[in-house]
Amino acid sequence: MTRVALIAHDDEKPEMLDLVECHESLLSGFDIVGTGTTGGRINEETGLSVERKESGSLGGDVQIAAEVVEGRLDGIVFLCDPLTAQPHEPDIGALLRICDVHDTPLATTRTGAEYLLDGLAADADAGE
Ligand code: PGA
Repeated sequence: MTRVALIAHDDEKPEMLDLVECHESLLSGFDIVGTGTTGGRINEETGLSVERKESGSLGGDVQIAAEVVEGRLDGIVFLCDPLTAQPHEPDIGALLRICDVHDTPLATTRTGAEYLLDGLAADADAGE
């Protein structure tokens, strides 16, 4: 089954919740993993079920990067706040780099996320 990771910085969480609600039926066919607070809010506020890792600041991004290394993830939606410095900037950089290393698709914007989710759904329909 297609497995995706969902991560959103605090200012981007409303955007993530809206994205998830707009794509709920598509996402209901995927395995979903998320960082702690992002995953918790999706679990509480939508009909989807997300496997929760740690919060990003406590290593959640690194846990998701490890799944990329292990070949477990088909794509990542990471809605980053471009205007706020994050204490775990090195972890974020590591996740982005690991996605590049393994050619794992990653979207950091709403529009990119829409394309990513549609592409993964098309691959799933094609049996890839
Ligand atoms: P959070 O982590 O979902 O626990 O807020 C996201 C992040 O800050 O990278």
